[in-house]
Amino acid sequence: MSQPLVGIDHVERRSRVRIASVWQRGITLHALYRDGTIRSWALDDAATSRHIQMGAMIEWELPREYGAPERLLWQIDDSANVRGILVSPRLARPRQSSAANLQMGAIYAAFGGLCAALLAYNLAMWAALRHRFQLAYCAMVVALGAYTCTSSGALAWWLPDIANTDRIRLNYLFIACAAAAALFFARSFFETELAGSRIPRAANRMTGLLALATAAFVLLAPWRIALLDTLVSLSFAAILPLIIPIVWRARQRRSPHLWLFATAWAVPLLFACLRIASGLGIIRPDFWIDNSTILAMSFEAVMSTVAIAYRIRLLTKERDEARAQELAARLLADTDPLTGLLNRRAFLVRAMAVKGELTLFLADLDHFKQVNETIGHDGGDEVLRVFARTLRTTVPADALVARIGGEEFAIAQPSGEALNPDELLAWIRAARMPFDLSITASIGSCTGPLTSEGDWKRLYHNADRALFAAKSAGRDRARRSERIAAAA
Ligand code: GH3
Ligand code: MG
Ligand code: MG
Repeated sequence: MSQPLVGIDHVERRSRVRIASVWQRGITLHALYRDGTIRSWALDDAATSRHIQMGAMIEWELPREYGAPERLLWQIDDSANVRGILVSPRLARPRQSSAANLQMGAIYAAFGGLCAALLAYNLAMWAALRHRFQLAYCAMVVALGAYTCTSSGALAWWLPDIANTDRIRLNYLFIACAAAAALFFARSFFETELAGSRIPRAANRMTGLLALATAAFVLLAPWRIALLDTLVSLSFAAILPLIIPIVWRARQRRSPHLWLFATAWAVPLLFACLRIASGLGIIRPDFWIDNSTILAMSFEAVMSTVAIAYRIRLLTKERDEARAQELAARLLADTDPLTGLLNRRAFLVRAMAVKGELTLFLADLDHFKQVNETIGHDGGDEVLRVFARTLRTTVPADALVARIGGEEFAIAQPSGEALNPDELLAWIRAARMPFDLSITASIGSCTGPLTSEGDWKRLYHNADRALFAAKSAGRDRARRSERIAAAA
């Protein structure tokens, strides 16, 4: 029975009566009015759901026409809850009631959004990384989402005909599923570290125990409900100490993920202890401890998301480095080490990718053997480098330049662009060579299609013939072979 409300001013007597929902068969609210009449509102298990507000509060709206009540009395039938018979009775104005709904709704909705995001995120990560623990994590998130639906009272809004105790049964079921999934997650997270130990088998036994206790509660309550409720709390309590050997072994095995696990899960594990202690009646039940799961899990989610993001950053860095190395390796494989020009293979691949006809120029240094004899092999190498640089800087930007033999170079020029071989020869003559040697070259060219190995042979053969003609005619000059017609 409430205290007399007479001392409280009329407006302050509010028009809504709220209590927290706990396990009971039915409740009747009696209100005593000034004229001595008593009005009563009875709720059975099924009707209670229609009075559930966010945060699983049962709420009565007192009819205004009777004025303010002087005193309230609740009659609770078959209360079977170890957490109390009448929990958190309150009077509220309509506005306070909506504010409470809005506030709780916001908290639960935020958690629901977090669940949805975590699910999408972890499924996407699983698609990419294929770690089994990611699926266990998803299962845990789904179970927690379902648990939030039942514990918030949202389920009663969605299914107003559900018996209130059935909602509480589902609540027990989903939190047990979440705990089992969390344990499975911890196991598979440290899979390599736990291999060969007895911990996985112990974890299976604990999960079995939890499943059994929860099933007994869900199916048998209210029969021996105090005992069944204690069993459920004890089976949760039995799971928690398992974390100690898991973490211990991970530490022994120098698990690289241990710090991640420890930081992310410290808060949820602490709150799980508080919840169990409250369930076993060791500490006083509290609304925030009851709802601690979602807050602690929010913390866990944010922590592990940051950790995963960090891991992705590392992976990305590794991948970028590998890519850069691959690029460097490919570049190395494509270039001639002495001159830095394309080598024969890379030149051919790229020339064949050019659309339309092209002109192939073969440039060969004149009397290079003598150059070597005069200034030595190293001097000859330097001449080759200067020659290569001269070619690269004088040909048009879209031309391909390669060293295809000892002192033989090739230029592939898409047709339509102008590359004047005589101009090129003039540049070579003018190039500043080691020991101020005068170096000249001869050029042979041919125009035609280049899409296959066969085209290349023909084109090369004709250009080489023109080069031979240039050499025969006295060197330091260019000759052109007749163009090869494209095949019909
Ligand atoms: P020609 O005007 O008829 O082309 O006369 P050449 O002496 O240039 O022709 P030949 O093909 O007889 O000689 C080419 C020389 O190029 C032979 C070889 O020692 C030299 N050579 C080939 N590769 C290199 C290299 O990488 N470095 C140096 N320094 N010399 C090279
Ligand atoms: Mg030569
Ligand atoms: Mg030669």
